[in-house]
Amino acid sequence: MDGPHIQRLKQAGYRLTQARLTVLDVLESEHGHITSADVLERVESIKPAIGRASVFRTLDLFTQLGIIRPTYIDTSLTPTYVMMHGGHHHHVICTACKRFFEFDDCGMEALTRNLEETLDIRISGHLLEFYGVCADCLEPAAEETKAERL
Ligand SMILES: [Zn+2]
Ligand SMILES: [Zn+2]
Ligand SMILES: [Zn+2]
Repeated sequence: MDGPHIQRLKQAGYRLTQARLTVLDVLESEHGHITSADVLERVESIKPAIGRASVFRTLDLFTQLGIIRPTYIDTSLTPTYVMMHGGHHHHVICTACKRFFEFDDCGMEALTRNLEETLDIRISGHLLEFYGVCADCLEPAAEETKAERL
């Protein structure tokens, strides 16, 4: 059984090369977020024959096809790639501890339709990124117990 991402590649007319399949495996094993540096390192350890350039080309191709999107948390040097599930990806980032909180239900249908009509654009997906401070980071007591445990 092919997953949706493999079908997306086939539909767009791309061959399932070793590099494409390996990079996809690495991305999927992370359930969502992985930096380009970590993708490189993993691919090198599983299939050393796949060169860096072909890993980067594959990441660019997957981005074009809407399978992943790059996001930049702290630095523009190493993007963190997120997987797009059926065109959606949503999370809140705690700006203090940098944790991600994923959520499924985005309620974006009305806005999407509205944008398609007013801008005359066929929308294929969205990446929603919210920023905030999580309960652990807001709560000074929790911080103290955490410090004691260390
Ligand atoms: Zn959504
Ligand atoms: Zn996410
Ligand atoms: Zn936090």
